[in-house]
Amino acid sequence: MSTVQGRLRIAVQKSGRLAERSLDLVRDAGLRVVKGNNDLLYRIENYPIDLLRVRDDDIPTFVADGVCDLGIVGENVLEEVRNGGPNAEVVMPLGFGRCTLKIATPPGLDYAGPSSLQGLRIATSYPKILRRFLNEAGVQAEIVTMRGAVEVAPRLKLAAAICDLVSTGATLEANGLTARDTVLDSQAVLIKAPTPPEAGLQHLLDSVVERMAGVVSSQGAKYVMLNAPRAALDRITALLPGAGSPTVMPLSGRDDAVAVHAVCQEAVFWETLEKLKAAGASAILVLPIEKMM
Ligand code: ATP
Ligand code: MG
Repeated sequence: MSTVQGRLRIAVQKSGRLAERSLDLVRDAGLRVVKGNNDLLYRIENYPIDLLRVRDDDIPTFVADGVCDLGIVGENVLEEVRNGGPNAEVVMPLGFGRCTLKIATPPGLDYAGPSSLQGLRIATSYPKILRRFLNEAGVQAEIVTMRGAVEVAPRLKLAAAICDLVSTGATLEANGLTARDTVLDSQAVLIKAPTPPEAGLQHLLDSVVERMAGVVSSQGAKYVMLNAPRAALDRITALLPGAGSPTVMPLSGRDDAVAVHAVCQEAVFWETLEKLKAAGASAILVLPIEKMM
C-alpha cells in the first residue's frame, strides 16, 4: 500500500460497531474529516493526517508494523492478534465499544465453572484468548474457530459450548444460550506504533493523543454551579461526584452563603441533585463540558 509521505496515519474500522464512534472521536479532537472518493483513505483537511479505513482485525498489525501511527480497536481484537513480535502499545481506553467475551452454554449442559468444559468442543472467533483462559483454568478442551454466527454452533452440534462477545445478551437469549464465565472485558482503546512517527510528526502525534484524552475525560463530566449556606459547605462539596477541590466564592450582599463551582468527573444524577438540595444547596445548575485539557 502506498501512503503519502509526511502525514500521520490513524487506522479506524471502516464499517461496523466501532466505525461511527471512532470518527466522532477524531472529529471531537478537532480533526476535520474529508470523505474523498478513495474509500480506504479519508483525509484530515486541517492537519497532515490520513485516516486509514480497514477491517478491525487488521488494525493491530498495521499499528504494530508502523504502517499506521495510531489506531482505534477493541481490546478483544488487540488481544487476539497479539503475537511474539513487536506489538502496538495501548495509549488509553476510550470508553465505548464495551462488550464482554463470555462462555455460553445451551440447556442440558450442567455448568459449574470452567472445569465443566473439560473434554468438550467450544466454538469461538477468539481461539487464542479462549486457549489462554482454558490453560489458566487447567482445562483441556477442543476449540473450533468460526468467523461468525458462533451462537448457532451448539444447535448444529458443532460444539457443546461457545465463547462469544456479549453486550446486551439478546443474541444469546434468542439462541437459547446462557452466559456463564467472563473470559475478557473489552472496550475500544487507542493504540500507537512501537516506533516513533516520521521525522517532524511527533509533535502532531502528541497533540492528537492529548486532545483525544481530553475528549474522553470530558465525556460524562459536568460543570456544576450552586449556592450553599456556609454552614453546610463541607457536606455539600462532599456530595459532588468526583469533583476534586471546588471553587468557593462569596455571594455579594450575603455573609451566610457562598457560590460553589465544580467540575464533576462522574455522571451527575437527579438523586445527587436531590441530596444537594436537601443539604441546603439552591440555584443548582448542571452544565455540559465541551472540551477539557
Ligand atoms: P470488521 O468488518 O471490521 O472485521 P467485525 O464484524 O469484526 O468488523 P464488529 O461486529 O463491527 O466487528 O465489532 C467491532 C468491535 O466492536 C468488536 O471487536 C468489539 O470490540 C466491539 N463490540 C461491542 N459490542 C459488541 C457486540 N455486542 N458484539 C460484537 N462486538 C462488539
Ligand atoms: Mg473483524
